[in-house]
Amino acid sequence: MTEDSRSRELAAALTATRERIAAAEAAAGRASGSARLMIVTKFFPAEDLARLVRLGADEFGENREPEAGRKVAQVRTELPEADFTMDMIGSVQRKKARTIARWARRVQSVDSAELTEALASAASKALDDGHRSTPLGVLLQISLDGDPARGGVVAEQLPALAEQVRGHDGALSLDGLMVIAPLHGQAAEHLAHAQRIAEDFRRDHPEAVELSSGMSGDLETAVEFGSTCVRVGTAIMGPRPLVSP
Ligand SMILES: *Cc1c(COP(=O)(O)O)cnc(C)c1O
Repeated sequence: MTEDSRSRELAAALTATRERIAAAEAAAGRASGSARLMIVTKFFPAEDLARLVRLGADEFGENREPEAGRKVAQVRTELPEADFTMDMIGSVQRKKARTIARWARRVQSVDSAELTEALASAASKALDDGHRSTPLGVLLQISLDGDPARGGVVAEQLPALAEQVRGHDGALSLDGLMVIAPLHGQAAEHLAHAQRIAEDFRRDHPEAVELSSGMSGDLETAVEFGSTCVRVGTAIMGPRPLVSP
């Protein structure tokens, strides 16, 4: 595939995905732009990230460090004027907190007290040494089925974790919740459940406005149930390569 044909392919998929989101917002009676598109570029090379930035996309997610940090650095070097953000959406090893705090706008997968402490100290260092200029955003990851393999905390654990994040005001900002719908069962039921949890949560934490839910296969349902951030990989990038580049 030539350079140009990959850019054209990405442009077409980006347009089609934006149309899906717009149609879902309209169907749900929601304001246009109230569900934002985050493009998940994991397993695809930095060149694809650069192509998408040139096409005007500006919110991205990655799930593995150090690959993510390398891609961000490469595109920032190549396109120094470009304005884009990268969120960490995968499970985080504590020893990687230091580097993640240098490039991530937010970590969407916060699910333990230990990780919160590690991110708070990493973010405060990154602020001190000029690697970042704003607090590190935090989304607490909800587990709807309690399956520890998929990460997340059950709803009962959210209040304590939220208080802990807020105790690091200045280094961390509590931005909302994230959910990965369990594999079994109906997506609609899971996403409706996540929406109820998010509504309860916002009563105590009105600033935590984000609900990151929905992927390529269920983004319409997620928008129907209050998603503010759909994380889309396959529908834009194509099927993931088997081996990481
Ligand atoms: C890979 C990934 C996605 C994107 O999934 P697609 O089905 O390819 O759209 C979304 N969220 C998380 C946490 C992911 O790891």
